Amino acid sequence: MPTYARADLEFVRGEGPYLFDADGQKYLDFASGIAVTTLGHNHPRLVAALKSASEGVWHTSNLVHIPTQEALAALLVVNSFADTVFFGNSGAEAVECCIKVARKYHSANGHPERFRIITFGSAFHGRTLATLAAGNQAKHLDGFGPKVDGFDQVPFGDIAALEAAITPATAAIMVEPIQGESGIRVPADTFLPALRGIADREGILLIFDEVQSGVGRTGKLFAHEHWGVTPDVMAVAKALGGGLPIGACLATEQAAQGMVAGTHGSTFGGNPLSTAVALAVLEEVTKPGFLESVEQAGALLRDGLEKLKAKHGNKITEVRGKGLFLGLQCTGEPGVVIDELRRHGMLTVIAGDNVVRLLPPLIVTEEHIAEALSKLDQALSATSF
Ligand SMILES: *Cc1c(COP(=O)(O)O)cnc(C)c1O
Repeated sequence: MPTYARADLEFVRGEGPYLFDADGQKYLDFASGIAVTTLGHNHPRLVAALKSASEGVWHTSNLVHIPTQEALAALLVVNSFADTVFFGNSGAEAVECCIKVARKYHSANGHPERFRIITFGSAFHGRTLATLAAGNQAKHLDGFGPKVDGFDQVPFGDIAALEAAITPATAAIMVEPIQGESGIRVPADTFLPALRGIADREGILLIFDEVQSGVGRTGKLFAHEHWGVTPDVMAVAKALGGGLPIGACLATEQAAQGMVAGTHGSTFGGNPLSTAVALAVLEEVTKPGFLESVEQAGALLRDGLEKLKAKHGNKITEVRGKGLFLGLQCTGEPGVVIDELRRHGMLTVIAGDNVVRLLPPLIVTEEHIAEALSKLDQALSATSF
């Protein structure tokens, strides 16, 4: 279905941070398939993991044990707040599972009337009916019938509005620690700690949607670590599979107490192929020194972007983000800059709020960053808003 306005491009080969089209034209990939190809293209360790898994059992269903799935869950648990993990195949499914965990938690505690979830303005949580209702974007909901009930929305960052929206029916608060689709919006440093305090006081659950910000993108394994707070439930996807489809809902034992046998399921979730690759991704990202190198690369890129902002001040208003989760807010239509960058052999992604998203693979070196900054400089010079 023509649900995408696609660029007239197709790629036949990838190597690290580069993609190549059929004519051999080379593109510096600072889009990463929307924050997915975390370790770049054709990473030897991931190729080996997939080749090896492809010669084993492809699929068994979750009616039996899947060793790579259990190893991946164990590694996620060791490296996070969570005690338990459910695997699906996408970000939206991971968020759906978070919603179900929160509702079931209160129901199992004798409060089925507590099912409503408070979300935030300009959020993005996915394209299924429930996650659309959670995101509450008119342009995404239009024409798809009655909105799924159970979501209340307040402005992002507005603690007073949040306090006022809590009722005896509130089950949870759900937030992206850094909003991705709406323009790499980083909240005030007090915001996430305030949410944790309110959730504890009210006996409601705190859900973080780290589908885009998670798995090393910000220089921490999960973005919420920047603020020293943990959620009760969390959705992870995009980068987790390094390019294979996988999503995960992580939770504390306490929050997931209602999720007993038969309450949730997925035929493909946690499949041997996707979990073998995700396990290799997570082992690489949690290797000593890896996240520090992401932080350093992020600081270098950010510094260069600030210099470009000084030079092209009439075209850039702000540099935002953390680590390699960065955005350039433009004074005009960001699509114009993105098209110009593509003509200069560099791929980026548009976001809301007039932002060009820069999502390089986490393995970028100083040389790749210098190349990106030079292409950005040329593209901005060629842009007229
Ligand atoms: C991309 C995204 C989703 C949806 O993920 P899909 O894999 O497209 O279903 C949900 N939440 C956030 C924050 C995202 O960035």
